[in-house]
Amino acid sequence: MTDDTRPLIALIAHDKKKPDMLAWARSHHDRLVRRRLVATGTTGSLLKADMPDLDIALMKSGPLGGDQQIGALIVEGRIDLLVFLVDPLSPHPHDVDVKALTRLAVVYDVPMACNLATADRLITLV
Ligand code: PGA
Repeated sequence: MTDDTRPLIALIAHDKKKPDMLAWARSHHDRLVRRRLVATGTTGSLLKADMPDLDIALMKSGPLGGDQQIGALIVEGRIDLLVFLVDPLSPHPHDVDVKALTRLAVVYDVPMACNLATADRLITLV
């Protein structure tokens, strides 16, 4: 991954937002297929099954540490865009990890989209 100069985009969607993530990725497929992607386990597996030509590195599932793995990539300065479709209407057992990840994106000044309207705009810049 390190010799590759293509931008690296991190994709995460909470369960109720996974259909939105799939639809969003389909609509931006032409751009995403020319980028490197990293995703939490379930989000990434769904994207891969739907669009096998995407170059997606799979982390652990979010509740099993995948959010933290993506946080570590942010700390290393490797993430160019974080698309994190959060579901504010459901409780999450790994809420502390969600907070930690969004905090790191702020600390390291990484462009971060937490909803579709922002994702649609930021993806045009990366
Ligand atoms: P998942 O993780 O893609 O493995 O479902 C997302 C999350 O952090 O809830």
